[in-house]
Amino acid sequence: MTKKPFITLEQVQEIVKKYPTPFHIYDEKGFVDNAKKVYEAFSWNKGFREYFAVKATPNPFIIKKLAEVGCGVDCSSYTELMIADKLGLRNDEIMFSSNETPEGEFAYCNSLGGIINLDDITMIDFMEKECGIPETVSCRFNPGGVFEVCNGIMDNPGESKYGMTLDQITEAFKILKAKGVKNFGIHAFLASNTVTNEYYPMLAKTIFELAVTLKKETGANIKFINLSGGVGIPYKPDQKPNDIMAIGEGVRKVYEEILTPEGMDDVAIYTEMGRFMMGPYGALVTKAIHEKHIYKEYIGVDACAANLMRPAMYGAYHHVTVLGKEDAPCDHVYDVVGSLCENNDKFAVDRKLPKIDMGDYIYIHDTGAHGFAMGYNYNGRLRSAELLLKEDGSVEMIRRAETPKDYFATFDFCDIMK
Ligand SMILES: *Cc1c(COP(=O)(O)O)cnc(C)c1O
Repeated sequence: MTKKPFITLEQVQEIVKKYPTPFHIYDEKGFVDNAKKVYEAFSWNKGFREYFAVKATPNPFIIKKLAEVGCGVDCSSYTELMIADKLGLRNDEIMFSSNETPEGEFAYCNSLGGIINLDDITMIDFMEKECGIPETVSCRFNPGGVFEVCNGIMDNPGESKYGMTLDQITEAFKILKAKGVKNFGIHAFLASNTVTNEYYPMLAKTIFELAVTLKKETGANIKFINLSGGVGIPYKPDQKPNDIMAIGEGVRKVYEEILTPEGMDDVAIYTEMGRFMMGPYGALVTKAIHEKHIYKEYIGVDACAANLMRPAMYGAYHHVTVLGKEDAPCDHVYDVVGSLCENNDKFAVDRKLPKIDMGDYIYIHDTGAHGFAMGYNYNGRLRSAELLLKEDGSVEMIRRAETPKDYFATFDFCDIMK
């Protein structure tokens, strides 16, 4: 199996006349259609809402498009809240799922009417001091142990820093209720990048059972259950993509088994997906600028880990296509590398690819989430532009590339760097 780029060599040759490589480009039709499908998959649930995880792709142009389909935002910091604020999002369009929250952020969220999702029981006092007790509060659950889905995919909540234990969340609900909270939410994020249709239904079962218990033990009015993120994408060409329709249907089944018989059939389902919403609909386009033949064959490109950190950080696989050579035989083996003075700055290691010539455009797949966003400035490297491939085929710049002036902006208090 292979993965197909959403732009052609001819399109890139046009784009680079105006916007030089490297750049991240996003496929508007791709992510808008996908977002609509997410809403279709959960249309059985009256209050359903996807809160796009802003940290995945913190670009207001993209968030605005998603908001037009009905998505809210899931923010985790002050500046992410500012994006929501500037886009005019308010109240239940904003979820604030932070942890180890710095001062001032709950107050800001509350001033926008956003929903605060508490990561810990100790955050109740912290929140109350900052902004009082809101009418609606969500709490994050961590069941501990390991979380296993039938096909063996699992994660390790017992080792993760997030959420409250069962005793704590029960206690937190009691305290919050006594302090006047009227509506409660429950949130849990138990596994990351799951490429299986079983994850959300399994997670839903865990949280739905908890919701029934919490309602019985505390009398809390549970308004929503937030399945959070974790729905993955097939980074590798042999992986089978998740079927969001099957996932929605799987959650519905568990809902009708557990919540409906308890008379809890007005509970809204929320999601906070980032990767699934944007990952496949972004790509990093870079140019082969050097070749090097030592103990291995290297292709040096004009992007580096500062533009896409996942391979360096997690050893993550990103598929690579040499544009214009989609059908050429993969009879060469290369490391495709960036310019950082770090030997982990490799987009691909021992990758079978067609023969790469200098000036070839290299398309790195699936950078639409946690791609540009994780960028940084090591080695004085600058972040690239972000472009939007619109439904009509035109290309719009939705973030300019950094310039040295941006890099030095934090020295603007001293004359010599001006
Ligand atoms: C990162 C994150 C998400 C999004 O995760 P994806 O794997 O990108 O879907 C959602 N909610 C919270 C609280 C997160 O930290």
